[in-house]
Amino acid sequence: MNPNDIINNLESKHPGEKEYLQAVHEVLESIETIYNENPMYKAAQIIERLVEPDRILTFRVSWVDDLGKVHVNLGYRVQFNNAIGPYKGGLRLHPSVNLSILKFLGFEQIFKNALTTLPMGGAKGGSDFNPKGKSDNEIMRFCQAFMLELWRIIGPNTDVPAGDIGTGGREIGYLYGMYKKLKMENTGILTGKGLNWGGSLIRPEATGFGATYFMNEMLKKNNDTFKGKTVTVSGFGNVAWGVALKVIEMGGKIVTISGPDGYIYDEAGLDEDKIEYLLELRASNNDIVSPYAEEFPEAKFIPNKKPWEIPCDIAMPSAIQNELNGDDAKLLIANGVKYVAEVSNMGCTPEAIAEFHKNKIPFGPGKAANAGGVAVSGLEMSQNAMKLNWSNEEVDEKLHVIMKSIHEACIKYGTEDDGFVDYVKGANIAGFIKVADAMLDQGVV
Ligand code: NDP
Repeated sequence: MNPNDIINNLESKHPGEKEYLQAVHEVLESIETIYNENPMYKAAQIIERLVEPDRILTFRVSWVDDLGKVHVNLGYRVQFNNAIGPYKGGLRLHPSVNLSILKFLGFEQIFKNALTTLPMGGAKGGSDFNPKGKSDNEIMRFCQAFMLELWRIIGPNTDVPAGDIGTGGREIGYLYGMYKKLKMENTGILTGKGLNWGGSLIRPEATGFGATYFMNEMLKKNNDTFKGKTVTVSGFGNVAWGVALKVIEMGGKIVTISGPDGYIYDEAGLDEDKIEYLLELRASNNDIVSPYAEEFPEAKFIPNKKPWEIPCDIAMPSAIQNELNGDDAKLLIANGVKYVAEVSNMGCTPEAIAEFHKNKIPFGPGKAANAGGVAVSGLEMSQNAMKLNWSNEEVDEKLHVIMKSIHEACIKYGTEDDGFVDYVKGANIAGFIKVADAMLDQGVV
């Protein structure tokens, strides 16, 4: 297998799908050696089968706003691979959503889900609908219209969507309500549900908590801890919130958050009151970054810039894909960054990752570092299937064990001769072997 030949072929079939091609390229580069050493993969055309989704559903979503105006959005579900379990992956609601972004996310999800050790295949979906500034009723009508199409292809043993950018507990509730109405059944067809109707404790915080546990393992590998470390974070959504809570609990200081319009530098660091204030702003569907600087005058709002210019020990991008590029990485390194973990999916560009590797900065890729979210989703599916609820401590303990095992898998497959851990390679190889071997066992389907 030559990654460039496969990418050239894919590019001619799917021109312009740059995020998808970027994600495939990264995985192929990592697994090239192991693939070529094991001819049974080639004989079964595993790569050719793995890089194309099993199926894609595209649909129109028509809904009516509060003023009676009709809107039309595009809806998608990309069911990528179900070799190790039902399709599983979030629904993204954001104006930038297109097929390339959902295919990259679905492809990444295959390996991430494999790393969790739980039986979940890879998928992703969403819409170019923008929830920002919409009323609750508008969000409800959109979610209901979206589910009117999606329900046909999901099910507790078939495909179990979850949240992602723009899809939190409220949206999952509206989606679930419509599914229940259509199917007349209460089954675990979505994760991230409310606690009193089938949700799991810790699911909202799980991605951020898991990423912090993963970073903690990276620190431990270097005989280091979070204590006294300055941490820069981007975004302030579901994921960044969980990171902030757990990093503070572990003794680190979060000095930045950001939005599409700029970032906040709060040298004193976030604390519980500030986080509470940010959550209230988020719940009201408004921008949060510039109001924060007005509420806490010691914090600075830096418009139209990214937080990677602030000196820090640890950087944890937590907003959106490709939010940290090669120049940002150079700046972070020049300012003394010691560890980086992507909490957003594909948050760093290939150039940024190359800079970290060149400078021997341990770098945790999203598919390993942010797998805690889908892991707790998997635990929610187990609880639904068994019709019982685990306690906070039980879920947190299982999440902890899973993040440690993902870290160990990265060490196993990513440790280089000089002892440096290439977490990208480690995560890609570990995830690939599990999925590829399952595909071999199941024949050509
Ligand atoms: P949210 O929608 O809850 O939050 C996204 C945050 O990023 C918001 O604060 C948003 O600001 C900000 N943001 C959006 N675009 C930009 C930009 N261009 N520059 C800077 N900030 C921006 O999403 P999540 O927290 O759920 O997801 C964040 C990332 O984590 C995504 O990459 C997602 O795929 C990934 N992820 C999420 C999981 C989950 O469980 N939710 C699981 C695994 C990965 P604003 O609101 O002002 O637009």
